[in-house]
Amino acid sequence: MPVMVDGLRMPAIVAGDVALEICNTRAAWSGGEETHEYLHSYQHVAVWARHAGLLPDLATADAAEGERVLDRVLEFRRAYYLALTDGDADWALLSRYVRDYGPGLHAGTDSVADWDYGDDAERPLRAIVHRAAQLLASPHSHEVRACAGIGCGWLFHDPRGRRRWCVMAVCGNRAKAARHAAAHRPSA
Ligand SMILES: [Zn+2]
Repeated sequence: MPVMVDGLRMPAIVAGDVALEICNTRAAWSGGEETHEYLHSYQHVAVWARHAGLLPDLATADAAEGERVLDRVLEFRRAYYLALTDGDADWALLSRYVRDYGPGLHAGTDSVADWDYGDDAERPLRAIVHRAAQLLASPHSHEVRACAGIGCGWLFHDPRGRRRWCVMAVCGNRAKAARHAAAHRPSA
């Protein structure tokens, strides 16, 4: 379900956990008819990171660096998604990302420390990896479910095991319409 932010098509924020939203920048994880990709450029990554609440403002990069960061975000996203959905995750790759891009603590104000995401082009990647690492190491990672919608696969936090759809009005209704069509199909 797209929304427009700064003139770019962005996914709706629906996961209930900011750490999961990166997985919802793509749809049809489970192999639908068409794949929906939201992150087409570094600009998309930067706008999305602010839209999702990972960064307070827009990160910037030159063209070559932006391309490199985009590739890494997509590579990390895939391994992270598989780790959360009991897929065949590349844990060595995930560990390497956490080691290379996990931010350090930095002294904050009023004795509250903060995470240092830096101020360069890799800032969104560090924020994504940091949130992901925190979730993967927490018991909440067992409360993540994938939307049952046809060609969707978006993830959300579902502590009580009751939620089925990323957005009822989209995937829930689509499934209902498909069931309705199947029930009313004239038999041959
Ligand atoms: Zn869905």
